[in-house]
Amino acid sequence: MSAALSIESVKSQAQGLAYRNQCFIDGRFANAASGKTFDCVSPIDGKVLTQVAAGDREDVDRAVKAARAAFEDGRWSRLAPARRKKVMLRWAGLLEQHATELALLETLDMGKPIGDSSRIDIPAVINCIRWYAEAADKVYDEIAPTGDDAVAMLVREPLGVIGAVVPWNFPLLMAAWKLGPALATGNSMVVKPAEQSPLTMIRAAELASEAGLPDGVLNVVPGFGETAGQALGRHMDVDAVAFTGSGEVGKLFLKYAGESNMKRVSLECGGKTPNIIMADAPDLDAAATAAAWGIFFNQGEVCNAGSRLLVEDKIKDQVVEKVMQVAKTLRVGDPLDPATQMGAMVDSTQMERVLGYIEKGQAEGAEVKLGGKRILSDSGGYYIEPTVFDGVKNDMTIAQEEIFGPVLSTITFGDAEEAIKIGNDTIYGLAAAVWTSDIKKAHRAAKALRAGSVWINCFDAGDITTPFGGFKQSGFGRDKSLHAMEKYTELKTVWIDLS
Ligand code: NAP
Ligand code: MG
Repeated sequence: MSAALSIESVKSQAQGLAYRNQCFIDGRFANAASGKTFDCVSPIDGKVLTQVAAGDREDVDRAVKAARAAFEDGRWSRLAPARRKKVMLRWAGLLEQHATELALLETLDMGKPIGDSSRIDIPAVINCIRWYAEAADKVYDEIAPTGDDAVAMLVREPLGVIGAVVPWNFPLLMAAWKLGPALATGNSMVVKPAEQSPLTMIRAAELASEAGLPDGVLNVVPGFGETAGQALGRHMDVDAVAFTGSGEVGKLFLKYAGESNMKRVSLECGGKTPNIIMADAPDLDAAATAAAWGIFFNQGEVCNAGSRLLVEDKIKDQVVEKVMQVAKTLRVGDPLDPATQMGAMVDSTQMERVLGYIEKGQAEGAEVKLGGKRILSDSGGYYIEPTVFDGVKNDMTIAQEEIFGPVLSTITFGDAEEAIKIGNDTIYGLAAAVWTSDIKKAHRAAKALRAGSVWINCFDAGDITTPFGGFKQSGFGRDKSLHAMEKYTELKTVWIDLS
């Protein structure tokens, strides 16, 4: 979908869409056992798109049983990796054929610009599935260096039934980061999408089935966190839960595991990424432009958003000026308009939460230099201006808590040492960025910053080949890269006596 397309043509495509809105269990669509549904609302205009099955414990249980049966009889778990690869490649092909439909669904459901869902989200989903498909028959096991009297094989085996509980900011992509490595290694899955954004996952599961994924291997139970999500977390026959979402809910999954069957838990939780711009940055304009995109991309609803702009005091005014210049050019508006660069906040609750943080920032003494208000309310949708705070101290609420909206906090520092101290002064550790021309300073900072990713002279770089995940309360376990497969496999030692 190119920017040359008109909003009218995108809207007419959107009108022709059919919504899959049920649970997908054992290869078939089904209503929730209770018969209950919930409103699937579009944040673009606040209107209901469709009614989605409100899955609960009984549905999760049916899905887990189907997943377990598939795992036990080996229809997927014991299929030769090369054959799993073929099915997953076919699935990626179908996702590609339906890319426009999936991008529209994503945008309607959660409010991100159609340009982003069609050029970033859905292509990344397809690439992820394809990459893990290709990896399926290229990863070898190991033989330990034991000596002549034994052969000790270190074998990776699929865990079994994996629950995936995912958020709404990149709905299908966050699921794909778990589906790719978990399915490639032979597991069965039950996915619980966020209540705000279930549509693409349900459709993608149907396409997987069409691609030849055996029944029961991939199940989707839409519904609420406290019901369906909790049921998955507490289920005695789920071997692992892979979670992306808030730290608060991440901690609940640890508790659920401890109170049930000690299932493996991996957590990708929030962040409060410091984007550190030193006065000797190679190109201050480029750094400031990246800082603006680093917070305003996806309406700021990004776990690694560069929400704390740490700037060396002598260049602060210059950098903030440039960030605001870029922010002023951003087109905020109807996500279905191909020219839109910032869309709607996912729902009214999230919008109110973000506006609450903006108020709190002012109350604690920071200054709003740009934005700060709800806009386009006549549309019925949930839009907030790109917002830039100056004069922020790192102990203020807006510098400590994850806002998950288009709100930048500017904090100054005197030297590199202070920058790193402030950068690390957070409960989170998902990512950090440093802009400097000094190679020693860059390396020292990269070592000293406690974060899963450190970007030097860039922001939010990476691809499927590099691990992504957090230190500290940003969670543990990594998505992407071959390392992600470790989360979905057990390591078995087979010792063969030769003496
Ligand atoms: P959230 O409230 O934690 O929800 C995430 C998922 O957990 C949703 O599917 C949600 O279901 C479910 N859930 C909620 N309460 C639950 C409970 N009591 N028991 C079991 N499951 C429950 O997070 P969100 O608001 O959707 O997403 C934003 C958060 O995700 C941010 O904190 C962000 O930083 C984080 N995130 C992290 C990464 C990363 O890779 N580190 C990536 C993206 C987002 P319902 O929505 O249906 O209630
Ligand atoms: Mg929605």
